[in-house]
Amino acid sequence: MRGGRRYRLLRGIVSLLVLRYLAEGEECGYGLRRRISGVLGEALPPGYIYVILKSLRGRGLLDAREGSRNGRRVVYYRITDSGMDFLLRHRGAVEAGRRAIEELTRFLEGRGGESARGDRGRRQTYWRRGARCAVPAGSPGRCAICGRPAAVRVPYANASFCEEHYPQWLERRIRRVADRYGMFDGVRRVAVAVSGGKDSVSLLHALAGLRGDYGFEIVGIHLDLGIGEYSRASAEAARRNFEMLGVEGRIVDLRARYGFSVPEAVRAVRRPACSTCGVVKRYALEEAAEDAGADALATGHNLDDAAQFVMMGYQSGDLEGLARLRPVIPAGRHYGVRSVKPLFLIYERDLAEYARIRGLPVAGAECPLRDRTSQGFIRRKLLEIEEGMPGFMLRLVQEFADGVQPALAERYLREEDVGTCRICGRPTSKGREICSFCAIRARALGTGVAPGATG
Ligand code: AMP
Ligand code: ZN
Ligand code: ZN
Repeated sequence: MRGGRRYRLLRGIVSLLVLRYLAEGEECGYGLRRRISGVLGEALPPGYIYVILKSLRGRGLLDAREGSRNGRRVVYYRITDSGMDFLLRHRGAVEAGRRAIEELTRFLEGRGGESARGDRGRRQTYWRRGARCAVPAGSPGRCAICGRPAAVRVPYANASFCEEHYPQWLERRIRRVADRYGMFDGVRRVAVAVSGGKDSVSLLHALAGLRGDYGFEIVGIHLDLGIGEYSRASAEAARRNFEMLGVEGRIVDLRARYGFSVPEAVRAVRRPACSTCGVVKRYALEEAAEDAGADALATGHNLDDAAQFVMMGYQSGDLEGLARLRPVIPAGRHYGVRSVKPLFLIYERDLAEYARIRGLPVAGAECPLRDRTSQGFIRRKLLEIEEGMPGFMLRLVQEFADGVQPALAERYLREEDVGTCRICGRPTSKGREICSFCAIRARALGTGVAPGATG
């Protein structure tokens, strides 16, 4: 069998994955094959999964039952109690396996195509002289939860965590933030906006991990903005994560839905690219979340983003803008969905570590349209302050959200001030007849802004 050796190597791991998905309620061989192929990034040979199912069944780790669907005979699988025990008992082995695989990956990655095809005949021995066992400088010490060597240090919390406990710690923290601001109270279906970058990909996985606690379901939404290779790679990363988690994912092509792409809008409108893109994304995400029947839309804005917005708002004295900056925007007269930012108190750096440790597929490239502005400078300076005063950004944003914003909201956020867009019926800012999105769209399509311009 072609690739036989590869599948021999993976067999134990695939068996554990099978048990994992069964434990989550997956019950057909086809679904198992699809999900595991998604994780591995390549299609498993069709018979392979059934060989494994048969062997697991022989060992009493799962049960099979015949049924029929649409007149066809199908087999449903279920994990048994001993299967569940078996899975849980392998936690340590999985950890050890992960470390071994990382070690191998580090070696193999540097050696791209140098494979069996190359120096086959020549036998060589490789060894490195002078290799020494040493603790790397600035190493993070020991895990605050289990005492094993730590993998990540979190300066503002003055704590370190191992690879197993770090993701758990971060997910719990996200949950505490979400609960404190009532983000998911009464929510049954969450639309997660996934750009493919590390923040929103981490958000997707963290919320998927909290599904059981909250009892909501997740639908992932990715907007294809039409920015060439950058958008293709982003959509691919989003899709891989949806598959990996087995969550419903929707990819909305902006051009197909609204008739224009972000580059077209940016060319047609005289304002900074990021601000045009921001208006378009916000609008399209809200609409997609509504279309998906979600009652909340979660975005991956992180603490560094929030701190930067707060500082820029102070600097320019934009009190109305500051009043609108909040972790939860309730559904209202104009919004069908509540909008939440569960990561607004999570440092960008902590999210990067989460994505790295969990090995999540993320798109790393920067948007080629990004305009050079003072934003990057403010961000860098904030990080410098943070270095000298760990926790500075966290306090800045938390005090803002808990004290400053509510005070500003009383004075500057009044529902009466919100107008209704003459074209699409969504909210406009005070005194405007047409919302920013419709104005951009009219420019991009070259149609002017007559009432008929929606088509
Ligand atoms: P940004 O505006 O690029 O800083 O992104 C902020 C958040 O908006 C991200 O964390 C995502 O949740 C969401 N977002 C940005 N771009 C996209 C996209 N192309 N598709 C879906 N969600 C997006
Ligand atoms: Zn630990
Ligand atoms: Zn409009």
